[in-house]
Amino acid sequence: MNEYPNCPNCGSAYTYEDGNVLVCPECAHEWTAADTAAAEEANVIRDANGNVLNDGDTITVIKDLKVKGTSLVVKQGTRVKGIRLVDGDHDIDCKIDGLGAMKLKSEFVKKI
Ligand SMILES: [Zn+2]
Repeated sequence: MNEYPNCPNCGSAYTYEDGNVLVCPECAHEWTAADTAAAEEANVIRDANGNVLNDGDTITVIKDLKVKGTSLVVKQGTRVKGIRLVDGDHDIDCKIDGLGAMKLKSEFVKKI
């Protein structure tokens, strides 16, 4: 049984521990368990209250948000169903009734 995580670089399962670093014999990648934890944490998107958001969640907007380049405003309290998480500064992709496809920042929403 291999108790070590697979190599984050090439996915190899033949990793081993050398001192406090993990080593991959196949691509010579070295990393620490802390790196892995940090990478996993970075993929987690949280709402304004610190709750973890997932694809398909329903959220409400916690403040009026101007839509860049338009005169539209996403009103505080707007309910948005079926969000999709994406990479980037605006990390939520969604469709809002009456406004269409929209990107929001997770810091301005609250999970219902
Ligand atoms: Zn590797």
